[in-house]
Amino acid sequence: MYYAEPMAKLIEAFKRLPGIGPKTAQRLAYFIIKLPLAEVEFISRALLEAKQKITCCSCCGTLTEKQPCIICEDIRRSREIICVVQEPRDVLAIEKMGEYQGLYHVLQGAISPVDGVGPEDLKIKELLARVKNHRVKEIILATNPNVEGEATAVYISRVVKPLGIHVTRIAHGLPVGGDLEYADEVTLARALEGRREI
Ligand SMILES: [Zn+2]
Repeated sequence: MYYAEPMAKLIEAFKRLPGIGPKTAQRLAYFIIKLPLAEVEFISRALLEAKQKITCCSCCGTLTEKQPCIICEDIRRSREIICVVQEPRDVLAIEKMGEYQGLYHVLQGAISPVDGVGPEDLKIKELLARVKNHRVKEIILATNPNVEGEATAVYISRVVKPLGIHVTRIAHGLPVGGDLEYADEVTLARALEGRREI
């Protein structure tokens, strides 16, 4: 099909987003063209600003506008517990339930030999450094309840335990293979409460 060059470029841009196929990309492009200019400016500015201002917290790895993030900076939170998650969005999922009072550590992925992701590709070194330098007493492994998440939890438990720190795994009851971010708050709270030493 023929598109004017800028239109083709816009469709191409949308196709790069996850879950957006050619048809959806085309629909979005037509939608954008119909919008008032101010709306399009708002959307494009939001994209740029988020990309320019949001970075990973230098301490825990969650997304933040300032360093360190508000969670790491919050003096009311316990420095003795670190909850280890795969992605920054998992932090949000746990924060939403409003019960967890410790800190976080975002691994930025999970061990997955199929995808060529090994322990050295994750923020495990950084986790060990945090554990060694601070008064951490417990590590809660809240990686996803699927093969990659389990493998990651087992690996971390093996490297952290010799340091004399309690290592717990959140309880199952989370949908198997499901991502943490999709678990509802009650399920997540129960999973956290029922964590067991591994
Ligand atoms: Zn942080």
